[in-house]
Amino acid sequence: MYKKRKKPPELALLKSLNSRMELSDEMKLRDYNHKKGWEGERRFDDYLRNLAQNSIILNDLLLQSNQTTFQIDSLLIEGEALHLYEIKNYEGDFYYENDRFYKKNNKVEINNPITQLKRTDSLLRQLIHQLGYSIPIVPHVVFVNQKFTLYQAPLHLPIIYPTQLNRYVKSLEMNRTQVKKQHTTLAEKLIALHMNESSYRRISSYTYDELKKGILCDKCNSLIISAERSMIKCDACGYTESLDKAVLRSVEEFKLLFPERKITTKEIYDWCLISGEMRRIKRILDKHYRLIGVHQWAYYE
Ligand SMILES: [Zn+2]
Repeated sequence: MYKKRKKPPELALLKSLNSRMELSDEMKLRDYNHKKGWEGERRFDDYLRNLAQNSIILNDLLLQSNQTTFQIDSLLIEGEALHLYEIKNYEGDFYYENDRFYKKNNKVEINNPITQLKRTDSLLRQLIHQLGYSIPIVPHVVFVNQKFTLYQAPLHLPIIYPTQLNRYVKSLEMNRTQVKKQHTTLAEKLIALHMNESSYRRISSYTYDELKKGILCDKCNSLIISAERSMIKCDACGYTESLDKAVLRSVEEFKLLFPERKITTKEIYDWCLISGEMRRIKRILDKHYRLIGVHQWAYYE
């Protein structure tokens, strides 16, 4: 059993905003951190791939324990233990001092991932206990980036460094024991408790009016697109796509950006900003969505 990692919706949201407005420095940073985090998690998934056959791996769990919400990057369940992973894709030089984490170049303190790990560990332990299990949890902070260095870290910290990852995974492969029925049941319970999407905090600093309208190129994310009959072509990179597909992509993007707005022919016509008659949009929407209501109150779902 395996719970796959889904691309966070916030990434798609920021990608779309990036082409449609001037992002503030704060949002650019957020975009960068999200991308980095996502890349790091994917890199770690690659390491664990071989283990997936005889263990249970649950990724991206959002759980609640003691009225506190917490997130787990990866959880590996094998016969003897639950391995809890906090994945970090930090790059560059860092140092450890008095239980704190600093960037080496500017001495700026950053959140200590060990503290974060301890919190998750404790909340998970309580949850597992409530569910009636007593299986040991082994927590790890994993630094996946080969360009990461940490100075002055004490030996006892539960850290897996980039240079140790291969060895670590090998030792897991050798030493793990068979998953038992009770572990499968535990995994099923955790998946059932997983809260969907609620981690997805909306970025509220944009409005419909300030965003540039038009269809984004699926290849290069540029907005300069000409539409001819049933095809569209990107003026920047030359990529062509069927109008149907491009409009459907834009509808999904619209839904992500404005979940509170209703999908109507007029809205999507304005959003896609294609020349020609509105009928073309209506035809595509009719084909792929369900029309609800009549006349001016009608919308698609
Ligand atoms: Zn393009």
